[in-house]
Order: sequence, then structure tokens, then C-alpha cells
Amino acid sequence: MSDLRISQIVKRYGALQVLHNIDLDVASGEFVVLVGPSGCGKSTLLRMIAGLEDISGGEISIEGRVVNEVKPKDRDIAMVFQSYALYPQMTVQQNMGFSLEMQKMDKADITTKVQETAEILGLTPLLDRKPAQLSGGQRQRVSMGRAIVRDPKVFLFDEPLSNLDAKLRVQMRSEIKSLHARLGSTIVYVTHDQIEAMTMADKIVVMRDGRIEQVGAPLDLYDHPVNRFVAGFLGSPAMNFFHATATSDGFELQDGQKLTARHNLPEGREVEIGLRPEKLSIDPDGPLKARVQLIEPTGAETLITVELGGAKATLLMHRRIETGIGAEMSLSADPRDLYVFDRDSGETLALT
Ligand code: ADP
Ligand code: MG
Repeated sequence: MSDLRISQIVKRYGALQVLHNIDLDVASGEFVVLVGPSGCGKSTLLRMIAGLEDISGGEISIEGRVVNEVKPKDRDIAMVFQSYALYPQMTVQQNMGFSLEMQKMDKADITTKVQETAEILGLTPLLDRKPAQLSGGQRQRVSMGRAIVRDPKVFLFDEPLSNLDAKLRVQMRSEIKSLHARLGSTIVYVTHDQIEAMTMADKIVVMRDGRIEQVGAPLDLYDHPVNRFVAGFLGSPAMNFFHATATSDGFELQDGQKLTARHNLPEGREVEIGLRPEKLSIDPDGPLKARVQLIEPTGAETLITVELGGAKATLLMHRRIETGIGAEMSLSADPRDLYVFDRDSGETLALT
């Protein structure tokens, strides 16, 4: 069953159109992540689902009911923001119970509900504290707790981890994911961070300039991007790209080096080749010659930046590499790992 259906949604601010005919279905219990560069329209779409922005065109329905004209408080949706928006004068207990009080829920029931939720979130020892006495991560947990107590049909998160430091972000990422597994809630989660998208989502929606570029399971998008944008957006370090020209038996890079690959493109066709950093290997017999520009050991991995085929490329090795800046390196790549994109449209081209 689809909990949330977005069809042909358009948003205009005066003459400026920021969303173009967005279609999206979110199934019950699904964790959907909207990801894309800043300004692509993620928050606008989320705010329209919440009822905080007017809809210029199209329809949004929740459990089969069109909610275009339904007030935010009547949509049965809870939103968690980047800024926690807690009431500073209230305790954690009061912050979490506030919306239930507004709904005139029985006092004893509110206490039970808040305590249960606090237990899930590890907030029990903090119930009597005020927001100022909490760390950033604890505040974020309270703001999630405030959403959870309401038992909404859909949870909306807008970059909830952006204000946290790197380590806490990673920790909260796993907490939210476990929470989802435990509660089975329907979640639409916005982030510009592709790692958050890859690690948390059941389904990723990649957006650019107010349009959806591709929707799919994280690893499907990683392995089968429909275009250069999606290919370059997902993955860290990002995919390497090379200008190339199709030849009878492969592709010629800008510096004249050749990659052998079977394809049915016409000879002379100019394309863009993509190769992920973990798919380039150091191979003394490899046909590609590269020059080392930078070496970054992280302990478990080594990132090597090289000059290759007239471009800068990154290699990701899961071991330590003894080499120096300026050294020449022989590399190879499996032709099956190549992506080929149209030079103009960026669309992924099928090779056979
Ligand atoms: P994201 O959340 O992906 O960073 P937003 O949804 O906030 O992007 O913004 C999408 C586009 O809409 C941006 O170009 C932004 O400048 C524009 N925008 C957002 N809110 C308004 C507004 N109230 N008036 C005019 N333009 C807006
Ligand atoms: Mg935003």
C-alpha cells in the first residue's frame, strides 16, 4: 500500500518554477531519501507534503486521501527539522508531551507514551532536563521523540543531522536507521549528503534543479546510474570521468592512451567515460600509464590522485601503497566496469 502519493507536483514562486512535475510513491514502512545539491527543491517538496507550502499544481495524497487543502495539523504527519525547535523553558518530558496535550490526551496516557518513547531513544535519564542542559545529539533525539509520540502516518526529516559534528552524525545515522527498523515507520528524509542517502534509504530519489533524475534502491543507483549526474553524485570518492573518443576496439583518451572495450558506438563518437575509484587497479602489466599527484593514507585505505588520460583521477586501494609523488604507475581496469555517457546530454549509453 502506498502511504504517500505525489503526482505531477509543481511549485512556483511567482515566475520562478522550482519543482517540475514531480511523481513519487512512498510505500507504507518505506524509508525514502530525497537527495540532491543545495537548492534543487528538496525542502520545498517536503514542506509541501507537510502542508507548509501551497501547491501550485498536482496532487498529494496520504493513505488515499487528497490533502492539498488539508491543514498541516490535520495531515497526520510529523516533521523533524535541522534546527531542533525545542521549547527552551520546558523540560524534555514537557517538550515531548506538548503536542499530545494540545490533542487533549489524558495526562496519564501522555506520561506513559512519553516514557515509552524516551526509553526507545535512551532519553529516560534526561526527562527532567531543559534543552540548554543537553548536547546537540540529545536535543536531536528529543526532537525525534516529539515526532514519535504522535504516532504519525508519515515522518518527514529535513537535514536533521546537519548541525551535528561528524562523529555524532555517523552515530545518529545508525540510530535513525535502527529506529526505523524497529518502528516500521514511513519516512521521507531530506539530505544533501549522499553517504546518508546511500546508508539509510530503502529508496533514493536523486533530484536536480527541481526535477527527479532517478529513483531506486541505493546500490542499484550506484551500479546503474541513468546519467552522468547520478553517477557523479553517488559515491565517495566520486566517479572519475574522462573525455574519450570511440575507436573500433574501445576508447581513446585525450592523451592518446587506449582502453579496450567492446561497444557498438560509431567510431569517432565523442563520449565521456566513467570509472569508479575502486575499479582502477595498480597492475605492473596494465595498459594505462598514470602519474601520481597525491597520496592520502587513511589507515585502512589509501587514496591516490593521479594524472591519467588528460584528467585527474582517484584510485581507492584497500591497502597501503608505497609510492611517491611524481612516480609513474601502471593501471588496469576491467572493461565491464566502464560507464559511457553521451558528451552533451550526459545520458548513460548502452554498449551492446
Ligand atoms: P533544497 O532544500 O534542495 O536546498 P529548496 O527547496 O530550499 O532547496 O529551494 C529550491 C529553490 O526554491 C531554490 O532555488 C530556492 O532559492 C527557491 N526558494 C525556496 N523558497 C523560496 C521562497 N519562499 N521564495 C522564492 N524562492 C524560494
Ligand atoms: Mg533544504
